[in-house]
Amino acid sequence: MVAMLLGGTLAAGLARANGFALDDAQWRQKLSPEAYRVLRQAGTERPFTSPLLKEHRRGRFACAGCDLPLFASETKYDSGTGWPSFWQPLPHAVATHTDYELGLPRTEVHCLRCRGHLGHVFDDGPPPTGKRYCMNGVALAFHPGTTA
Ligand SMILES: [Zn+2]
Repeated sequence: MVAMLLGGTLAAGLARANGFALDDAQWRQKLSPEAYRVLRQAGTERPFTSPLLKEHRRGRFACAGCDLPLFASETKYDSGTGWPSFWQPLPHAVATHTDYELGLPRTEVHCLRCRGHLGHVFDDGPPPTGKRYCMNGVALAFHPGTTA
């Protein structure tokens, strides 16, 4: 029993500790191929392809993997990069980690609950934070409504 509880990878254990864990086959079944590639394999969607770029209603942008609310519409802005961009996440929504996939350090952003890859954060955003959370639209699900 104890051995069973201790089984699995560290990442799965961390996700389980946060209350949300699926195995790889379950993720493949739950997500579209493109969402799976981004969220579970740290892929990047082609710029200017996300319908969320034109989403200007009030509401919340949630994780497409586990539906945890990640960003409020009030913090979304047009960065001109072709990816939905925000200057601040909601509290207790995302975590960051440094990757070196392009040879230079970049700060990867993932969902705090299911650990799904969302995008990267850069220091060239607008006030008040100066941060640019550059997100893959396919990793997000928009829920219209008030955010107050
Ligand atoms: Zn998630």
